[in-house]
Amino acid sequence: MDTEQAEAYRAILQQQLEDLLREAGKTVSGMTDEHENFPDPTDRASMESDRNFELRIRDRERRLIAKIRAALERIDEGTFGICESCEEEIGAARLRARPVTTLCIDCKTEQERQERIG
Ligand SMILES: [Zn+2]
Repeated sequence: MDTEQAEAYRAILQQQLEDLLREAGKTVSGMTDEHENFPDPTDRASMESDRNFELRIRDRERRLIAKIRAALERIDEGTFGICESCEEEIGAARLRARPVTTLCIDCKTEQERQERIG
Protein backbone atom coordinates (compact mmCIF):
# COMPACT_ATOMS: atom_id res chain seq x y z
CA MET A 1 0.00 0.00 0.00
CA ASP A 2 1.36 3.44 -0.85
CA THR A 3 1.48 6.37 1.55
CA GLU A 4 -1.45 8.12 -0.05
CA GLN A 5 -3.73 5.10 0.45
CA ALA A 6 -2.47 4.61 4.00
CA GLU A 7 -3.20 8.26 4.81
CA ALA A 8 -6.71 7.91 3.40
CA TYR A 9 -7.31 5.00 5.80
CA ARG A 10 -5.79 7.03 8.61
CA ALA A 11 -8.37 9.78 8.00
CA ILE A 12 -11.22 7.21 7.97
CA LEU A 13 -9.98 5.57 11.18
CA GLN A 14 -9.49 8.88 12.97
CA GLN A 15 -13.02 9.92 12.02
CA GLN A 16 -14.40 6.62 13.35
CA LEU A 17 -12.41 7.07 16.55
CA GLU A 18 -13.75 10.59 17.06
CA ASP A 19 -17.33 9.44 16.47
CA LEU A 20 -16.94 6.59 18.93
CA LEU A 21 -15.40 8.76 21.61
CA ARG A 22 -18.19 11.30 21.19
CA GLU A 23 -20.83 8.57 21.47
CA ALA A 24 -19.10 7.05 24.50
CA GLY A 25 -19.07 10.48 26.14
CA LYS A 26 -22.81 10.82 25.58
CA THR A 27 -23.47 7.43 27.15
CA VAL A 28 -21.44 8.32 30.23
CA SER A 29 -23.16 11.67 30.76
CA GLY A 30 -26.52 9.94 30.20
CA MET A 31 -25.68 7.58 33.03
CA THR A 32 -24.84 10.27 35.55
CA ASP A 33 -28.37 11.66 35.83
CA GLU A 34 -30.14 8.32 36.02
CA HIS A 35 -31.30 8.75 39.64
CA GLU A 36 -34.69 10.00 38.70
CA ASN A 37 -37.88 8.86 40.33
CA PHE A 38 -38.96 5.47 39.06
CA PRO A 39 -41.23 4.20 41.82
CA ASP A 40 -42.78 1.53 39.60
CA PRO A 41 -40.64 -1.63 39.83
CA THR A 42 -41.40 -2.45 36.20
CA ASP A 43 -39.95 0.87 35.12
CA ARG A 44 -36.93 0.27 37.26
CA ALA A 45 -36.39 -3.19 35.76
CA SER A 46 -36.58 -1.88 32.24
CA MET A 47 -34.25 0.96 33.17
CA GLU A 48 -31.74 -1.55 34.52
CA SER A 49 -31.88 -3.68 31.43
CA ASP A 50 -31.33 -0.51 29.40
CA ARG A 51 -28.28 0.11 31.49
CA ASN A 52 -26.98 -3.42 30.87
CA PHE A 53 -27.51 -2.76 27.22
CA GLU A 54 -25.50 0.45 27.49
CA LEU A 55 -22.70 -1.33 29.29
CA ARG A 56 -22.55 -3.97 26.58
CA ILE A 57 -22.45 -1.27 23.93
CA ARG A 58 -19.71 0.50 25.78
CA ASP A 59 -17.75 -2.75 26.04
CA ARG A 60 -18.13 -3.21 22.30
CA GLU A 61 -17.09 0.42 21.78
CA ARG A 62 -14.06 -0.02 23.98
CA ARG A 63 -12.93 -3.01 21.95
CA LEU A 64 -13.50 -1.15 18.71
CA ILE A 65 -11.59 1.89 19.99
CA ALA A 66 -8.65 -0.39 20.86
CA LYS A 67 -8.79 -1.93 17.38
CA ILE A 68 -8.84 1.48 15.70
CA ARG A 69 -5.86 2.64 17.77
CA ALA A 70 -3.98 -0.54 16.83
CA ALA A 71 -4.80 0.05 13.15
CA LEU A 72 -3.47 3.63 13.41
CA GLU A 73 -0.26 2.24 14.92
CA ARG A 74 0.05 -0.19 12.02
CA ILE A 75 -0.21 2.77 9.64
CA ASP A 76 2.67 4.44 11.51
CA GLU A 77 4.69 1.22 11.35
CA GLY A 78 3.90 0.65 7.69
CA THR A 79 2.28 -2.74 8.35
CA PHE A 80 -1.28 -1.58 7.78
CA GLY A 81 -3.19 -3.69 5.26
CA ILE A 82 -0.91 -6.70 5.70
CA CYS A 83 -2.51 -9.88 6.99
CA GLU A 84 -0.91 -10.72 10.33
CA SER A 85 -1.35 -14.41 9.69
CA CYS A 86 -0.12 -15.05 6.12
CA GLU A 87 1.53 -11.62 5.57
CA GLU A 88 -0.20 -11.15 2.23
CA GLU A 89 -1.92 -7.87 1.43
CA ILE A 90 -5.51 -7.67 2.59
CA GLY A 91 -7.93 -7.03 -0.29
CA ALA A 92 -8.92 -3.38 -0.82
CA ALA A 93 -12.65 -4.14 -0.69
CA ARG A 94 -12.25 -5.86 2.67
CA LEU A 95 -10.14 -3.02 4.06
CA ARG A 96 -12.63 -0.42 2.90
CA ALA A 97 -15.47 -2.32 4.57
CA ARG A 98 -13.50 -2.98 7.71
CA PRO A 99 -10.28 -0.94 8.04
CA VAL A 100 -9.51 -2.30 11.53
CA THR A 101 -9.15 -5.85 10.25
CA THR A 102 -5.82 -7.63 10.76
CA LEU A 103 -6.60 -10.72 8.67
CA CYS A 104 -7.18 -11.25 4.97
CA ILE A 105 -10.46 -12.85 3.99
CA ASP A 106 -8.89 -16.32 3.60
CA CYS A 107 -7.32 -16.27 7.05
CA LYS A 108 -10.47 -14.80 8.59
CA THR A 109 -12.58 -17.54 7.01
CA GLU A 110 -10.14 -20.15 8.26
CA GLN A 111 -10.16 -18.63 11.77
CA GLU A 112 -13.95 -18.72 11.88
CA ARG A 113 -13.94 -22.32 10.68
CA GLN A 114 -11.50 -23.25 13.47
CA GLU A 115 -13.65 -21.41 16.03
CA ARG A 116 -16.70 -23.38 14.93
CA ILE A 117 -14.81 -26.65 15.33
CA GLY A 118 -13.31 -25.63 18.67
ZN1 LIG B 1 -4.01 -14.01 5.47
